[in-house]
Amino acid sequence: MYTIKERSIIISIDTDKCITCTSKACIEACRLYARGILAPDKNGAPSTAHLSEEETLRLGTECLACEYACDTRGRGVITIDVPIKGLSAYMKGGV
Ligand code: SF4
Repeated sequence: MYTIKERSIIISIDTDKCITCTSKACIEACRLYARGILAPDKNGAPSTAHLSEEETLRLGTECLACEYACDTRGRGVITIDVPIKGLSAYMKGGV
């Protein structure tokens, strides 16, 4: 599982399944709707390895386009977590 940390979200990609994906829709969506932080690695899987952590944080727009593109035209292997401090306690009625 490849993970990308942006300012308030964590993107997880099961890149083992990207090798047989012909659309690479996540990379195209990232270029079209955001700042194109995703680029193919040597296996063709989406990656931000060409950027430093600081560049990824600065350029990432948290637009979620990659997840939608992968769900609709890829293999549905992107999960985005949006951690919200105190949410689970709130949902349990503890706040
Ligand atoms: S669209 Fe989905 S399956 Fe295809 S390369 Fe991107 S993350 Fe992998």
